[in-house]
Amino acid sequence: MPYIEIKNIDKKYNKKVIACNNISLKIEKGEIIALIGESGCGKSTFLKILSGFEFPDKGELKINNHFAFNSNTYKKAEERNISILFQEHSLFPHLTIKQNLELAIKNKDRNYYNDLIKISSVEDLLERYPHEISGGQQQRVALIRTLLLNPDLILLDEPFSSLDEFTKSNLRTYFKRTLKENNLTTILVTHDITDAAEFADRILVMQEGNIISDSNYEELYQNPKNEYIGSLLKNINILPAKLFDLQNQKNMGLKPSSIDLTEGKYQGTVLNCIPLFNSYKILIEYKNNQLFTFSEKFIPSNDLINFSIKLDEIIHFE
Ligand code: ADP
Ligand code: MG
Repeated sequence: MPYIEIKNIDKKYNKKVIACNNISLKIEKGEIIALIGESGCGKSTFLKILSGFEFPDKGELKINNHFAFNSNTYKKAEERNISILFQEHSLFPHLTIKQNLELAIKNKDRNYYNDLIKISSVEDLLERYPHEISGGQQQRVALIRTLLLNPDLILLDEPFSSLDEFTKSNLRTYFKRTLKENNLTTILVTHDITDAAEFADRILVMQEGNIISDSNYEELYQNPKNEYIGSLLKNINILPAKLFDLQNQKNMGLKPSSIDLTEGKYQGTVLNCIPLFNSYKILIEYKNNQLFTFSEKFIPSNDLINFSIKLDEIIHFE
């Protein structure tokens, strides 16, 4: 029996904007799910429905075999043991970090609180106010507060979006480890594939209110079914197939590893060569399109470059 069971959730705004279309989902205890999709596809609405801040038109939510809502039951947000964490502003600005955290302790074990404070390196911040600590530190405190509430389900709505890349990456690792250690079931909403890839066991792709894919990152990357998924992945090129003389009017996907820079019949211009740790990211202009790949050696901008593509590795979208 799955720990969380979501069935047939529908939600329209003003009777016309479809935000959730017949969403069904089963989640095991301790699983970390990422829900990814372009802005406006319905991600936040879905989380709000689960947490009780928005009414669905139809559907069911069952946690650990108890209904949070169905056609006869509707538990209010405060009666559901679900925590939701947003991008920012989740701490009370007029309370210190310590006071913010103590609000969540209630009858909980003090030792658990002390342990959490220790492992999350916020001990030195306790007497400060939220505006006196960084965005990454605020999100760490917000997560500790969520853990103190010991929810059945944790919902994270773009919690890393307002942070710089370095802080983001540290925080993702920290969040994941903490959630896994506590065996907490989590749904992360994001528009950023890197969040999903680094953080989640399973990635759901949402488009116009529908869940169109449910797999892990490896499967998603190896076989992006359609152009929408390809464009979310960011790390593949999406180009018109006719650019390479293929008899297809549509766009195709081309992984950087499918581009061979040593020789070939296509000639482009190097737009930029960006040093990475042990290679270079090369941006190439070819017939008014841009593509990127990686190279072991430096290639100066404006150089002409010959390349070929591995035809059998082209991704043909549905
Ligand atoms: P996402 O989080 O993926 O960006 P949302 O769930 O916020 O998407 O929005 C899904 C769609 O529903 C969008 O078209 C948005 O404009 C619309 N929408 C969201 N909230 C409301 C609301 N309270 N009233 C009317 N339309 C809304
Ligand atoms: Mg949103």
